[in-house]
Amino acid sequence: MKFSCDCNFVVRDQRNRLPYKATYLSDKAGERVGDWLLSELDSYVAAVRSGAIREWLEQRGLGDEFWLGQTDGVRINDLILSKAEAQSRTAYECEACGRLWLEDEHQRQFSYRPANDEPNNPFDWD
Ligand SMILES: [Zn+2]
Repeated sequence: MKFSCDCNFVVRDQRNRLPYKATYLSDKAGERVGDWLLSELDSYVAAVRSGAIREWLEQRGLGDEFWLGQTDGVRINDLILSKAEAQSRTAYECEACGRLWLEDEHQRQFSYRPANDEPNNPFDWD
């Protein structure tokens, strides 16, 4: 994926660990994801304890042999990522002018220009 910034610099998203990219949840979406996650984890643990994990997976469309053969960690990790990815949005900072590109609820992209008109590297941390 790539797009042109208002300054004509081409922002590219074609590899992992980009220092000018971030993935974010709104505070409201984060609360909703947190509530959902708590409910799903309680449900998962109850299914494991009662030996009903096959039924739990089938209820979520994951009843095939692939998912039955996965560890609890893989299942839970995928569960979290699938929900978080659906609710999250992507932000970029233009490496040339520092303009921030964000997405709204409908994944429409819009931008903000920094007061100093230069990159400030807000997403370049580990
Ligand atoms: Zn720019």
